[in-house]
Amino acid sequence: MSVRLQRLVDRLATADWAGAALMPATNLTYLTGLQFHPGKRLTLFLIPATGATPVMVLPQLELERVRAAAPFSIHYVAWSDAAGPLTALAAGMEAAFGTSTPMKPLAVEHTVMRLMELRALETVAPGLRTVDVDPLLSELRLVKEADELALMEQAVTIVEQALHATLAQVRPGLSERALSRILSEAILAAGGERESFTNIVASGPNAANPHHENSDRLLQPGDLVVIDCGAVYRNYHSDITRTIAIGEPDPEARRIYEIVLAANTAGRAAARPGATGSAIDAAARSVIEAAGYGAAFVHRTGHGLGLETHELPNIVAGNDAPLMPGTVFTVEPGIYLPGRLGVRIEDDVLITADGSRSLTSFPRELIVVKEG
Ligand code: ZN
Ligand code: ZN
Repeated sequence: MSVRLQRLVDRLATADWAGAALMPATNLTYLTGLQFHPGKRLTLFLIPATGATPVMVLPQLELERVRAAAPFSIHYVAWSDAAGPLTALAAGMEAAFGTSTPMKPLAVEHTVMRLMELRALETVAPGLRTVDVDPLLSELRLVKEADELALMEQAVTIVEQALHATLAQVRPGLSERALSRILSEAILAAGGERESFTNIVASGPNAANPHHENSDRLLQPGDLVVIDCGAVYRNYHSDITRTIAIGEPDPEARRIYEIVLAANTAGRAAARPGATGSAIDAAARSVIEAAGYGAAFVHRTGHGLGLETHELPNIVAGNDAPLMPGTVFTVEPGIYLPGRLGVRIEDDVLITADGSRSLTSFPRELIVVKEG
């Protein structure tokens, strides 16, 4: 059993649950290193809180691949397309919990498990009680270990290299979509397995929408362009935003850029062990509020980052949990003026033993692309 799985088992026992039934998804990759392609065939990893050997119920056609990759001993119960999954699932539940319907609750991932798996569990385990294991797993994933941090640093290096290559090709007349494609290809070319998320290229008034969908709008002189992107490297994500100008921006746009940069700087400066998401949000937000744009900063200051682009901790008012060394999150203040412009500057910050360090180091001064 891996150290991470043992940690989960201990917590399941403390909670007095029977165990957990995890989907073939991110949490399972975190615990076992195993990779899965999401499909329609039922696959569940059953983890007894007793510490007994975990059980994987899976389609026959996945058995050899998973068995070859598994880092520790797992009891497999495979099912064929002809037989369907229910008999195997019932056998798996008995193998894991000694009975098909455990007395204690079974922890499942509320944000990941589908009705398909839940109904199958209810069918083979009448009267089964379930509880949400998401908060527990989010907490276990919150503090990154050294090997995770090394992969995240690589994901950052890749996206920054891609951003450099992309910015060298920015010119007026290029569409948002065309620039987005250049960026996507650059991320893969730099060694990214894929993008962390569909990149955002939001130009001129489009930049006022933090979740803009890339359009055919052409970049033009006077635009500020928000570029938000990330790379995945061996499952770990990076996430960075820079705002650039096409030609010299007007004085208000430049002033707004400097305010957002000051907010980003203040947010990063507030990051240290024991600081809270609430305090870091306040540090960034107060700069924007003091400049009179408080109502135009319409989202939280940041989010945790790791195996997913959005995980804990939330850098937002009300999150009063002290941050521990090893926690990675974004600091991404913005100002959005509908119909006119938007600015966001986003970095990935690591809490260290004695302070914090930005994993992203891409220049933060406004980059002005020549008009002609
Ligand atoms: Zn982002
Ligand atoms: Zn982000």
